[in-house]
Amino acid sequence: MDQSGFRELPAVHRLLSTEQVQDWLQHHARSDVVAAVQDTLELLREKLRLGEAIDLSIEEILEKVYEALQQRTAMHLTQVINATGTVLHTNLGRAPLATQAIDAVVQAARGYSNLEFDLASGERGYRFDHVESLLCELTGAEAALVVNNNAAAVYLTLQELANDKSVVISRGELVEIGGSFRVSEVMRLSGAKLVEVGTTNKTHEADYKKALEDGAQLLLRVHTSNFRICGFTYQPPLAELVALAKEFAVPIIEDLGSGSLLDLRARGIGDEPTVKNSIDAGVDVVMFSGDKLLGSAQAGIICGKKKWIDRIKKNQLARAVRIDKLTLAALEATLRLYRDEDKAFECIPTLHMLTTDIETLHTDAERLAREVTLSIGGYARCRVLETTSAVGGGAMPLENLPTFALAIYPLGMSPATLLTKLRQSEPPIVARVAREEVIIDVRTIFDWQYEALIQGIKTAVAR
Ligand SMILES: *Cc1c(COP(=O)(O)O)cnc(C)c1O
Repeated sequence: MDQSGFRELPAVHRLLSTEQVQDWLQHHARSDVVAAVQDTLELLREKLRLGEAIDLSIEEILEKVYEALQQRTAMHLTQVINATGTVLHTNLGRAPLATQAIDAVVQAARGYSNLEFDLASGERGYRFDHVESLLCELTGAEAALVVNNNAAAVYLTLQELANDKSVVISRGELVEIGGSFRVSEVMRLSGAKLVEVGTTNKTHEADYKKALEDGAQLLLRVHTSNFRICGFTYQPPLAELVALAKEFAVPIIEDLGSGSLLDLRARGIGDEPTVKNSIDAGVDVVMFSGDKLLGSAQAGIICGKKKWIDRIKKNQLARAVRIDKLTLAALEATLRLYRDEDKAFECIPTLHMLTTDIETLHTDAERLAREVTLSIGGYARCRVLETTSAVGGGAMPLENLPTFALAIYPLGMSPATLLTKLRQSEPPIVARVAREEVIIDVRTIFDWQYEALIQGIKTAVAR
């Protein structure tokens, strides 16, 4: 083995004393800088051992140290470009926030706030005060509270209202949500006793009525967010169930899942009822997510009749699932946008992406194809493809939104390899493969991401 190269490697302290490294130490933890130096030297030593010819100039070594330092200190949770077209992509963080919500988060994060402080009286305030009246205004409910997410909303509500009680639910609504959240399990955990009625495809008023006659103390309806049963099916209309609950003087509560505040059906999308529909129908308590169709940050919203909401607010577990101030800031700002329907569709990314018109998507895909074709030369073939995107987030599983995409057929590698390389881009690009082509759906790509997207595709295809 040739030992001469080892002697040429500079010592750690020598590198640390260079002007450049001293400068990095101003901005990074000493432990990170030292580790980057040590790791780089170790890597070079290994290369020398293998007999590789390497440049051992200080400049060259420092460049490698800098790369190592960048890698060490890069954020693990990082922004990605969602080229899947799936608007509420749960693995990619569901709803992106409106600018107004982002600003509100920054404001709340930067200093102190009146989170639980009543500025008028100088006394203790309540964190729900910031959104309760907005939620009541938008849903028609008498009262509301917000918690960590909808799973917590369902658990807390059942724990308060159904602990040790028998709860009637249709067998057609025993849903499992992504990440194995099972309605039936959550009900059991909350102390409720399940009374399952009906069958998978059909449940009738009479089935509920029989359970109530036998002593069921609460009626639960669950939105079958992520699946549909089609064919020979029946579920009683909500109004009938409300009437039954009234007749037997038991509360009726509903897990709406996505919880749309605006009627997307009016814009030709999906079959999702609004929260207001349920409140108007007389449901006692409605629960839904903050980061699905509503388009805010992760939260669970519980709204309905004051007498029930007041009880839920006082439940000891409410503290364990309470909402964070940053989420609350995002939620308040997002809810304010809903006061003007046009503004909501314009500013809330989820609503905007769901309703982008097909001409705009076509133009965007054509522009992307033009620019990518110019820059990728003979490495791949590109075309504009008419396809469909999904809503995602376990919402509207049957809805196929017509869209346009860039389809890339790589010439020097498999589509799977290109997909992997795109994920390694900076920022990472998440796409999908269909029939030997990598599909870049423009629906979920923000205007400000195009430059990075084109650069990322160009680099990935040519590598
Ligand atoms: C998504 C969903 C939940 C869970 O909501 P999270 O906000 O993700 O906790 C519960 N119930 C239904 C019906 C859902 O669709």
